[in-house]
Amino acid sequence: MEYPGNLFVVAAPSGAGKSSLVKALLELDSHLAVSISHTTRAPRGQEQNGREYWFVSEAEFRQMVDRGEFFEWAEVHGNLYGTSRAAIEARIAAGDDVVLEIDWQGALQIKQLFPHAVLIFILPPSWDELLQRLKRRGEDGEDVIDRRMANARVEVAQARHFDFVIINALFETALFDLKAIVHAQRLKYAAQRRTKKAVFEALGIE
Ligand code: GDP
Ligand code: ADP
Ligand code: 5GP
Repeated sequence: MEYPGNLFVVAAPSGAGKSSLVKALLELDSHLAVSISHTTRAPRGQEQNGREYWFVSEAEFRQMVDRGEFFEWAEVHGNLYGTSRAAIEARIAAGDDVVLEIDWQGALQIKQLFPHAVLIFILPPSWDELLQRLKRRGEDGEDVIDRRMANARVEVAQARHFDFVIINALFETALFDLKAIVHAQRLKYAAQRRTKKAVFEALGIE
């Protein structure tokens, strides 16, 4: 499938800092929009429907799957998560590049559909630091944290399938790395050819 914009897919074990990094990136880059996923998980403290996620029941989610409304979906930590077509199409139509904050299973599905998607994996600097961040975030109970730590071992083994890896030790350094990846991607020949079509045509370049 061909889309005019750039697609960035960011995956990480829970607590590695994916959401914080993507949020900071969006504040710096007005041509970037985040895809809002659907999930069957319950909202956390400050989360709002339509802002962090579209929160739906499992029945509603399954109906969307049956109707083919998702580009990708996966079960993660016992809940269902998916990227709807609408979530991406509306943003691409507005001329923006899109960031997906999704799990590794979804990331690999997106790469199949959109070979030009750029896959970025965020690693924590250590297991101990990951556990501290999950505890410090203070949004999940002990059993949920245990489950996420156990799943993290499986998730990090998938980093090898990604185009880029960022180790989120110092936040500002990791943000710099993320900005660099987005910038470099936009300068690639194929991306420039897609997004700056008029310039290429005016110059008579194939
Ligand atoms: P987090 O791990 O603290 O960010 O917790 P979340 O509950 O927000 O996300 C749980 C997992 O689901 C993470 O691995 C997300 O990347 C993943 N996820 C979120 N949205 C989607 C989506 O639309 N599709 C897929 N495949 N995974 C998603
Ligand atoms: P994810 O979206 O990957 O689950 P979050 O962005 O929610 O992770 O980050 C988990 C917690 O770790 C948050 O409390 C966040 O403020 C904190 N955090 C993120 N990056 C760093 C960092 N480089 N150093 C210290 N704490 C961080
Ligand atoms: P959390 O419940 O902590 O918000 O997210 C848990 C995991 O689900 C994260 O790894 C997050 O990236 C992933 N996730 C969120 N939305 C989606 C989605 O739409 N698709 C997939 N595949 N994973 C998602």
